[in-house]
Amino acid sequence: MPIVRATGLAEMLDFVVIFTKGGVVLWNSQTSGINFSSCINSLIRGVILEERNTDSKYFEEDQLAVQFKLDNELDLVYAAVFQKVIKLSYLDAFLADMQFAFKEKFGGTPTLERLGSEYDFEGEFRSVLTAAEEASSKQVKAPKAMRSYNESQKSKKTVASMIQDDKKPVEKRVNIQESPTQPKSRPSSSPLTTDDIIQENRRKLREKLTPTKKSADTKLSVPVKQGATEKAGKKPRVWDLGGNSKDAVLLDRSKDSPEDVQYQSVNNELVGTMHGVIPDLDVEDEEDVDSAEDSSEEDDMNSHSLAPKKDRRGGGLLSYFRGIVGGKTIVLADLKPALEKMRDHLISKNVASEIAVKLCESVATSLEGKQMGTFDSIASLVREALTQSLVRILSPKRRIDIIRDALESNRGGKPYTIIFCGVNGVGKSTNLAKICFWLIENDFNVLIAACDTFRAGAVEQLRTHTRHLNALHPAANHNNRTMVQLYEKGYGKDAAGIALEAIKFAHDTKVDVVLVDTAGRMQDNEPLMRSLSKLIKVNNPDLVLFVGEALVGNEAVDQLVKFNQSLADYSSNETPHIIDGIVLTKFDTIDDKVGAAISMTYITGQPIVFVGTGQTYADLKAINVNAVVNSLMK
Ligand code: GDP
Repeated sequence: MPIVRATGLAEMLDFVVIFTKGGVVLWNSQTSGINFSSCINSLIRGVILEERNTDSKYFEEDQLAVQFKLDNELDLVYAAVFQKVIKLSYLDAFLADMQFAFKEKFGGTPTLERLGSEYDFEGEFRSVLTAAEEASSKQVKAPKAMRSYNESQKSKKTVASMIQDDKKPVEKRVNIQESPTQPKSRPSSSPLTTDDIIQENRRKLREKLTPTKKSADTKLSVPVKQGATEKAGKKPRVWDLGGNSKDAVLLDRSKDSPEDVQYQSVNNELVGTMHGVIPDLDVEDEEDVDSAEDSSEEDDMNSHSLAPKKDRRGGGLLSYFRGIVGGKTIVLADLKPALEKMRDHLISKNVASEIAVKLCESVATSLEGKQMGTFDSIASLVREALTQSLVRILSPKRRIDIIRDALESNRGGKPYTIIFCGVNGVGKSTNLAKICFWLIENDFNVLIAACDTFRAGAVEQLRTHTRHLNALHPAANHNNRTMVQLYEKGYGKDAAGIALEAIKFAHDTKVDVVLVDTAGRMQDNEPLMRSLSKLIKVNNPDLVLFVGEALVGNEAVDQLVKFNQSLADYSSNETPHIIDGIVLTKFDTIDDKVGAAISMTYITGQPIVFVGTGQTYADLKAINVNAVVNSLMK
């Protein structure tokens, strides 16, 4: 048997929303995880769009009830959704006051351009709610405390002057009709009339709103950051642009300090973790999210927590579209504000801006002209369209299978050769060593060619890696084969020549794989780009891997475009060998800003072959397309 209370309005209202009669949500506040969309849809379709039965201002579907108020002047609907077993007093008055406060703040007809974050109504909503709560509890707690005539008159006077001053059509609110199902909840013996309560609420609301009115007016032209009123308790979730800290934790795989780089790998636990294929990046799929929420939901209910629960229909990026609802055909103008937010969201996730724009364009093209059926169908259409685009980008046609290809080369009596290139400090040497470790784990022996003949310490760095890798995999464990050797000629020599010698050495001594480290270079440095092009042309490797940091945003595009362009321009081959694949490093440092993965694959059309996720040899993963796409959506 549910507990029926006349107080605790804030706890009882599952969802409060202001939307246009055309179905555009201007503002909302949600406290529970209930799925209200079907109920609101039915209200829009069955009542509001058809202009049927709107006098009753009450609607029910399944377990839910909606009390609503129409504003015919502005074509707006104010609605509160709650469990229908609960009888709530003062909803009419509460909605009327919400309408009043909304009009006070936003004045004339709202426009689509102001859709979303500029309707910063949380503070006013809180005031209205508090006033309604107070009026409600006053009636319940002290039903016999008769209000004096004078008090009542005084209150009315205040309201009367307020109406005069503002010329607002508030007089309509004095004659609010009770819905047929609601009056029972109001004790018939109450000495306070509905009018008294409304007047009192108005007075309190007026008091609360007046001091902030000026600042509220200025806020109209300046977008106000959502969440500024967070402390008040409930907060709106639909416009929440924040990232998901849970994901941040999951994606943050850093566990070692930089000093631990090679030394940590001597830890025997790491040996043997990378046989066979590279493990996928971890992914938190939606089921996990849901089940985690389910288990926490009970706790929340028991503790009557007002903290907003995560929207099951997906927050983050899709929330921008949730304002567009019901029963009409999508035109570009409807989508524009949401698409702009989506573009900014993608950029905030480190997707290069021009690629974010292209992604938005492709989503717009696939949505335009579609008929919107239900309250949340736009969100699922966007999810579908964007997921398709992202998965298409992240799943290039060509699959690189190094183990298969190396075995094939070896069967043909040749070492398999990989050249690593990229700008300085991105992790070329470190990730080359990780890949070497993985190859050894798969029983390939490796020759590292030290072709960074510029940077002091580059050769020594590789020598240290070689020593550690051999310590991890001593020859004694591999039929007396030395698993890693270093081919180096010191500094200042021609890198292309050293690589050539190394490959010949590997061929002659039956080494399975050659990994060629190259000097870091800026994409605009023509002489160095020429020499990289020459190194690749002369040595004709099986694979050219571009090593890039996951930290980069727009810079990723510039680097890749110019590397590819230089390899093409400075090669005298008819079919120059350009970048075959990407090693995306420092993925452990970016939380959920995974956009570089999209930018890099979009620009090259080539796959991310490895993802560096930390500073030990085992911190090497394969890209997990779902993980990246989910992260971008949040
Ligand atoms: P190079 O100049 O491109 O050869 O870069 P290095 O291999 O010397 O790496 C530069 C720095 O990046 C070093 O401190 C590495 O430990 C660090 N690093 C490389 N890969 C990763 C990674 O995946 N995650 C993190 N957190 N750091 C990395």
